[in-house]
Amino acid sequence: MSLYSQPMLVRVAQRRLVACMIYLDSNATSPTDPTVVEAMLPYLCEHFANPSSSYRAARLVRAAVQTAREEVARLLGAQAEEVLFTGCGTESNNAAIESAKMLWPQRRHLVIATTEHSAVLEPARRWEAEGGVVSRVPVGCDGIINLDALREAMRPGETALVSLMWANNETGVLAPMEQVVNIAHEAGALVHTDAVQAAGKVAINLAVLPIDYLSISGHKFHAPKGVGALFVSQRVRFRPWMLGGGQESGRRSGTENVPYIVGMGRAAALMQQALRDGTETRVQAMRDAFESRVLSAVRDVSMNGHRERRLPTTSSLTFCGIDAQAMLILLDESGFCCSAGSACHTASVHPSHVLEAMGYDAQHAASTLRFSFSRFNNTPEVETAAAAVIAAASKLRILRDEAAGPVVFG
Ligand code: PLP
Repeated sequence: MSLYSQPMLVRVAQRRLVACMIYLDSNATSPTDPTVVEAMLPYLCEHFANPSSSYRAARLVRAAVQTAREEVARLLGAQAEEVLFTGCGTESNNAAIESAKMLWPQRRHLVIATTEHSAVLEPARRWEAEGGVVSRVPVGCDGIINLDALREAMRPGETALVSLMWANNETGVLAPMEQVVNIAHEAGALVHTDAVQAAGKVAINLAVLPIDYLSISGHKFHAPKGVGALFVSQRVRFRPWMLGGGQESGRRSGTENVPYIVGMGRAAALMQQALRDGTETRVQAMRDAFESRVLSAVRDVSMNGHRERRLPTTSSLTFCGIDAQAMLILLDESGFCCSAGSACHTASVHPSHVLEAMGYDAQHAASTLRFSFSRFNNTPEVETAAAAVIAAASKLRILRDEAAGPVVFG
């Protein structure tokens, strides 16, 4: 019997509703599933023992961590021993890239894509600063990695690691992972993928796709923020950068964040269920309906990225001549949450490097909004959101035409 009653969980859900009426920003962070919170709560209070201790209370906690490891492994088609828990997706990416430095000095070459998240771009910059070499492979105007350029970038005998994201956080565009793995392995390089946006939204089966390292993050699939995981294939070596008490089989020292690990396990099991029972297909149908309403009602709107080869949850739309920040303010005032570019970049004035890499100019990027959906959305609210976006775009166009120039709020 849980100490935490249904009314308490309802309160959690209600507070979320008050905080933001209609949430279309799940790529920034997804709503925590109340059943995930429920699974976590006993490990914050009753079952607080350190999993490394030897008494019975600790064995119970250790078993819960192991169950979570199995649940995450099942979502990825991996073995439980191949999953190590981290603090976030950023840490997982850093850990994979740092590990590949074990191949220095013979293999000092790293290959990434121009559209990677900063959690790969920045470690790559450090790789260079420390004396390594980095190749940045371009993408096409549809956001898909140029495989010929990838082949050309490979340096057999020198390339240590190819790190390419599975799904882009701004456009949702999916990488052709099978071909990427083949090209990298032919050159004897390890393969890491930042699957932070992909996990739980598209099928991942590492039993048949020989990726070496793969990063995920709990808060992108309805677990809380502050927990991630790194898959390390049992075929390859891993050199940890976090040293200490030797937790996680010596691969990530530090006392395990048990409640969050349990939550991530539960969330992984729920995502696997959602992939199986067609829930994700329902999310895609909502996204498609939203997109077609907006595209048919507003003139000069275009969609960014490959139409089919993208996450079922993501829609990146450019409203030509409209300031996306102004649109965000109008939508926020009416209770809608979405993003201009990726959330990690909203404080910066730089145009999206992802859209730039796809060949778009700064003006295009400044008129782009990202809407990202999840199973916590429903059809009526998505219809309401489409109507609000259409109204906001038309209001801003009228204001712009009246002022004969772009409208900038704030
Ligand atoms: N990689 C991608 C593609 C992301 O979208 C994000 C977060 O937005 C990260 C990595 C970083 O994950 P975390 O917030 O868990 O550190």
